[in-house]
Amino acid sequence: MKYSVKEIYLTLQGEGSHAGRAAVFCRFSGCNLWSGKESDRLSAECQFCDTDFVGTDGKGGGKFNSSEELAGTINTEWERNVDLNSFKLVVFTGGEPALQISQELIDTLRTLGFECAIETNGTVPLRATLDWVTVSPKILGKLAVSSGHELKLVFPQKLISPEMYRDLHFKYFFLQPMDGIDYKENLKLTIAYCLKNPQWKLSIQTHKYIGID
Ligand code: SF4
Repeated sequence: MKYSVKEIYLTLQGEGSHAGRAAVFCRFSGCNLWSGKESDRLSAECQFCDTDFVGTDGKGGGKFNSSEELAGTINTEWERNVDLNSFKLVVFTGGEPALQISQELIDTLRTLGFECAIETNGTVPLRATLDWVTVSPKILGKLAVSSGHELKLVFPQKLISPEMYRDLHFKYFFLQPMDGIDYKENLKLTIAYCLKNPQWKLSIQTHKYIGID
């Protein structure tokens, strides 16, 4: 199995239930909802993306020819930065990580002691069993991944709303204010929604507040 990866780096998870926890982020290249080119943004299915997932030129990124090679690079990133060889966590993100993730990769990382988490837009079936599944819907339509550990909805969105997801099988439901020029207003709307609908918890992108990637 070959993999295209934009970047691999140790950071603190910024969002959701694991916010504040050390993790290696593995950002896969490519997404099924946008090419990543600004010239395509207005015609893309997902138009508010703020992530560069194009190519393999980020820190630690590259083409990996096998699961062992990629897992080894993730492990090296952990070991050269972290004193403990436990509480190991890798977060697969993108782009859309479900386009590339494999059970072979997860199994290899587990033998190295990693818990494996994914942040997916939910439109691509998962070909692996992960320890933590975060689904963040971006488009109208039935989800291919309709259960997991947390559902994290960027709010507000034009075509989708929290009511569409509240009956799905997730342990936690998060609303995260959409970033951008309307952030302050979006934060107010998100707080108001969570106050009225306590199934939903506010998710803040804490990494942006504290100034880390
Ligand atoms: S689904 Fe996620 S990675 Fe893909 S374009 Fe939308 S926000 Fe970006």
